[in-house]
Amino acid sequence: MNEFSFIEYLRKRVPHSFKVAVGIGDDAAVLKKLGSGNLVVSTDMLVEDVDFVLNKLGPEKIGRKALAVNLSDLAAMGAEPVAFVLTIGKPKHVSTRWLERFYDGLLKLAKQYKVDCIGGDFSGAKEFSVSVTILGKARRVVSRSGAKAGDWIGVTGSLGGSILKHHYDFTPRIREGLFLAGNCFANAIIDISDGLVQDLSHLLEASRAGAVLELDKIPVSADALRMERRDRSKHAKQTCPSRQALEQALSDGEDFELLFTAPPRKKILLEKSWRRKFPKVSLAWIGRIEGKKPLIRWVLKGKVIPAPKLSKQGFTHF
Ligand code: ADP
Ligand code: MG
Repeated sequence: MNEFSFIEYLRKRVPHSFKVAVGIGDDAAVLKKLGSGNLVVSTDMLVEDVDFVLNKLGPEKIGRKALAVNLSDLAAMGAEPVAFVLTIGKPKHVSTRWLERFYDGLLKLAKQYKVDCIGGDFSGAKEFSVSVTILGKARRVVSRSGAKAGDWIGVTGSLGGSILKHHYDFTPRIREGLFLAGNCFANAIIDISDGLVQDLSHLLEASRAGAVLELDKIPVSADALRMERRDRSKHAKQTCPSRQALEQALSDGEDFELLFTAPPRKKILLEKSWRRKFPKVSLAWIGRIEGKKPLIRWVLKGKVIPAPKLSKQGFTHF
């Protein structure tokens, strides 16, 4: 298959919902009016050997992840996904069969989240890369800058050890984001892509606020604990249990959970409605917003402790 026959294959294969007036096959796509609310736009890119190794992660998983990371960004704004376009850099070592399987993973997730693939572009490249641009809508947008002194800090799911599998099979928290935004439950939301401490720092800087975090309330994932057990049996002498897992929960990237702040008067109702709406998604309160300087104060069992030393500070591309 050449580029044009592959685009023709996509045109026939990709379903379009009622939202789409013109889909794949023209010079641009056309969406019907979104109704009231704001148009929310986000883009995120994955590059071979930077974000994944081609023959370690299968094509379906890479396709799924390319869309999932974008859905996570919309979730963190309290937006509902509508449609997306994607641009692919295709090297010679990627076959059209591989690309078909990439679209299998991508379109399966698109169907689950009712988000339309409405176009894209191909270019030749040395490495495989994919950049998705996603459009969403939101009646009430929640930015990362709205945290207020006194707010509780909440986090969905559990953290750390995403490298085992969570980084590609995570569930984008769209419904949870809509719930937090729609009921004015959250003053600020960010998704955890660079690690809890790093992303909380982004939220604090944007909000011009500080935080107190309770170390013993951090929800450590089963995979982080599993990795720790594995490493401990390798180095039998290591003594301090759950130290490594906790550090991973604080600094590993790609958890794609939501970190948010909620005004105290909303906390009880939020918890009650949460348990009813999301019985399978845990919710942990890990601290409070306090002060105006974007610093984190650490507390363990009610006592102030020095900031935990993290061996890595989260990932940056520069
Ligand atoms: P143009 O020359 O106008 O850029 P293309 O030949 O690149 O047109 O694309 C033709 C149609 O196919 C367009 O609707 C475009 O959005 C769609 N398309 C191209 N590449 C992709 C892709 N990788 N995934 C989905 N749709 C694509
Ligand atoms: Mg093109």
